[in-house]
Amino acid sequence: MAIERTFSMIKPDATARNLTGAITQMLEEAGLRVVASRRVWMSQRQAEAFYAVHKERPFFGELTEFMSSGPTVVQVLEGENAIAKNREVMGATNPADAAEGTIRKRFANSIGENSVHGSDAPETAAEEIAFWFAGCDVVG
Ligand code: ATP
Ligand code: MG
Repeated sequence: MAIERTFSMIKPDATARNLTGAITQMLEEAGLRVVASRRVWMSQRQAEAFYAVHKERPFFGELTEFMSSGPTVVQVLEGENAIAKNREVMGATNPADAAEGTIRKRFANSIGENSVHGSDAPETAAEEIAFWFAGCDVVG
């Protein structure tokens, strides 16, 4: 298996509850290494650009309003099979469907306020990392 990088975000519902450390610990315990990390309070415009792929979805307004409602922590994670591994540790989008031991099962409030984001494919991982970080900020 190849060493990959993926993009991860700790969402405003989680930073509000002071869960940055607890979530990062779960990622690290799963074998993922934080190779870049920054706290950002994004504007609604930035949220709209980041989530542009969802712009036709009925929850787009709700999603971008929530993502700009407080600080987030943007991170690059590195490890074997990091994209799939991160998705596994995150759990299903809706916490009601998330498996035991996942971040969303443990912490998510709802399908919208679901504590974490993770890239879903190599192409989106590369795009999302480049959206938030310059190459020199990622130190593996
Ligand atoms: P993410 O992209 O944040 O890692 P995901 O890949 O599991 O999550 P997507 O289908 O890409 O899920 O949806 C992006 C985000 O939009 C979700 O994480 C959630 O915050 C929000 N969302 C998705 N479906 C709904 C919904 N039905 N109602 C409200 N918000 C939703
Ligand atoms: Mg997604």
